[in-house]
Amino acid sequence: MSSIFLVADRDEHGEIAQSTLQAISAAKGLSSSSLTVVVVGDAPASALSLPVDKVVTVSPIDADDDGIYDQVTADLAEIVIKASPDVVMFSKTEFGSVVGARLAFRIDAAFAPDCIELSNETGTVRVTRPVYGGSALAEYEINSSPAVVSIRPGAFEPSTDTGSPTVEKLASALSVNRSVHVSDTVAEVREGVRLEDAKVVVSGGRGLGGPEPFSVLADLAGVLGGAVGASRAACDAGWIDHSHQVGLTGKSVSPDVYIAIGISGASQHMAGCSTSRTIVAINKDRDSNIFKEARFGVIGAWEKVLPSFLATVRDLKL
Ligand SMILES: Cc1cc2nc3c(=O)[nH]c(=O)nc-3n(C[C@H](O)[C@H](O)[C@H](O)COP(=O)(O)OP(=O)(O)OC[C@H]3O[C@@H](n4cnc5c(N)ncnc54)[C@H](O)[C@@H]3O)c2cc1C
Repeated sequence: MSSIFLVADRDEHGEIAQSTLQAISAAKGLSSSSLTVVVVGDAPASALSLPVDKVVTVSPIDADDDGIYDQVTADLAEIVIKASPDVVMFSKTEFGSVVGARLAFRIDAAFAPDCIELSNETGTVRVTRPVYGGSALAEYEINSSPAVVSIRPGAFEPSTDTGSPTVEKLASALSVNRSVHVSDTVAEVREGVRLEDAKVVVSGGRGLGGPEPFSVLADLAGVLGGAVGASRAACDAGWIDHSHQVGLTGKSVSPDVYIAIGISGASQHMAGCSTSRTIVAINKDRDSNIFKEARFGVIGAWEKVLPSFLATVRDLKL
C-alpha cells in the first residue's frame, strides 16, 4: 500500500485548481494507505473539504519567488525526504512541470511527466504516457521511491467528493539563495476559462495568416464556454501569446472537443492535444496530417468555413 503526496496547483483565485481535483481522481485509482495534499502557502477554503486524509501547508520564507520555485523545490524536497511517500504527484501544469522535474532531480527519483493512466497493483507504480506526438502510448514501470509523476490535465474527471482532512502547517526553515535574478515579470492576461481546464479548446495555427483571426476564435471559444489555444508557429509569429501554445513545448490539454483551425497537425503539436476526446479540424489541405487525427474534418479555407460555423453554433446555443 502506497502513501501518496499530491502537490496542489491553485487557480487564479488561489483556490485548489481543477487540475488538482483531476489528479485526486488519479490518486484515488491507486491502492494507497494515505493521500496527502501539499499546498504551498496558506490553505484556501477549498482545500479544507478535499476528499483526502491530510492537507499539509508549507509557507516558504521566500513566498514570492517569481516563478523560479527555488524555495518551493527546496521546501518540498525536505518534506518528501522526511515523510518518504511512495508517490509524489503533480499536475502537468507550468508549476508541476517545473517543480516536479526539479524535485525529482534533487531527491534522485525518477520523474514521469504527462501521465494519462496510473496503477500500482503489483507494488510498483506503472504509468502510461503519450509519446511520438500522441501517435503511441508508452507504459513505464517506475522503480525509484518515491515515483514522481505529473498528470495530464483533462485525462481524469475532477473529483467531486468532499471530505474533512486534518490540516498540518509547516513553516519552512530553509533559506535558499536564488539561482536566477528576475529583472521583469509580465502577468498573463486571460479572460474566461483556463486552457488546461477548458472542456472545449479552439486552436489556431499558421494557416490563420495573422493575429486578427484569433478574435474570431475567441468569439467561438466564448460561445462554447471554452478557451483559445494555438500552435507554436502562431505563437512564434507573435500573433498570440505563448501561454496559449499547445504541444510538446507548450501546454497539454485533453478537452472534450479540440477544434484545430489552420493547423497542420505536426507531431509536436499533437503531443499536447492527441488525448482530446474529439478533434475537429478545419484545413484547406486535404492531405494535412491533422485529418489523420481528427474525428470530424472540414476541408476548406477558414475564411469561408469559420463565419458560418460560428453563426450556426450561436443559433444552436440560443
Ligand atoms: C523541439 C520542437 C518542439 C516543438 N513544440 C511545438 C509545440 O509545443 N506546439 C506546436 O504547435 N508546435 C511545436 N513545434 C513546431 C511544429 O513542428 C510545427 O512546426 C508547428 O506545429 C506548425 O504549426 P502550424 O500547424 O500552425 O503551421 P503549419 O505547419 O505551417 O500548418 C499550417 C496549416 O494551415 C493550413 N492552412 C493554410 N491556409 C489555410 C486557410 N486559409 N484555411 C485553413 N487552413 C489553412 C495549411 O494547409 C497547413 O496545414 C515544435 C518543433 C520542435 C522542433
